Amino acid sequence: QEIVEIMDIPFNKLTQKELLQQHLYPRINSGERTYIVTANPEIVMQAREDATYKQSVKSADYIIPDGAGVVIASKILGNPIEERVTGFDLMFKLLSYAEKHNLSCYFLGAKQEVNDRAVNRVRSQYPGIRIAGSHHGYFNKDKDASVAEEAAASKPDLIFVAMGFPRQENFIAANQHLFEKGVFMGVGGVFDILAG
Ligand code: UDP
Repeated sequence: QEIVEIMDIPFNKLTQKELLQQHLYPRINSGERTYIVTANPEIVMQAREDATYKQSVKSADYIIPDGAGVVIASKILGNPIEERVTGFDLMFKLLSYAEKHNLSCYFLGAKQEVNDRAVNRVRSQYPGIRIAGSHHGYFNKDKDASVAEEAAASKPDLIFVAMGFPRQENFIAANQHLFEKGVFMGVGGVFDILAG
């Protein structure tokens, strides 16, 4: 089986390597729009209580187990996931790929100065990456579409959304259609880590 359902969330049973090499890299190269949720137990619990959020999570192309608890649950259910794939690791693998292939990346989320520092860090660590643009993550929901349209105009290959859950998944699910291509993923507090 390729999927294991945990509390009604269908997780892909892919190793990090399978996900990247067999799915994400080919989809990036063909310009196929792709939305990834790296779901930990908090996200699964939130989805149980919030139908809108559940819909946002379930509309992802890939739901990946980011959390030891999810992996353990899959084993108890008798349909084991081989390994945990963290959003953190996945983002850095994608940045390395972007560096190698001169892809463009958009960075949405966190406070303005955190966002600026995170983007500068990417710029210096990954000089081959084209920075499509960036935007802080503190705006009203009624601005979502205009922020998304501005980002979409820059035609990024990768869009990292660091606004915490449930906001980031709700944003991606509702607005990814405005982009002609791109890999979208919610990355929670990663910009804060990158900002140092
Ligand atoms: N954040 C944001 N907009 C918001 C709320 C949060 O950009 O409306 C940012 C926050 O500054 C932080 C990131 O979202 O950089 C992740 O926050 P948190 O660690 O709370 O999220 P989690 O990792 O738990 O999903």
